[in-house]
Amino acid sequence: MVVIAKHIDKKGLLNMAKTHCANWDNGNCVGCMMKSKDKTITFKVSSKFAGKSCQVRKKCRYFDNVVIPGIKNER
Ligand code: SF4
Repeated sequence: MVVIAKHIDKKGLLNMAKTHCANWDNGNCVGCMMKSKDKTITFKVSSKFAGKSCQVRKKCRYFDNVVIPGIKNER
């Protein structure tokens, strides 16, 4: 799943986040992070991301673990 991101340059990653990430808000991140465990989905607002510029060019686990698999499933 992360393999897609490895072959895309930083500008491409930002465009993917802009197009596909539900947290994208005009270049900033809403910061609503989701994870699932034992058939339960939990959400939390991450102060590390919320209200700050999209950090996909550095490292974003939400992008790798939620956004990228969603893109793959669209195909
Ligand atoms: S930092 Fe991650 S979660 Fe936030 S907008 Fe960018 S890709 Fe989406």
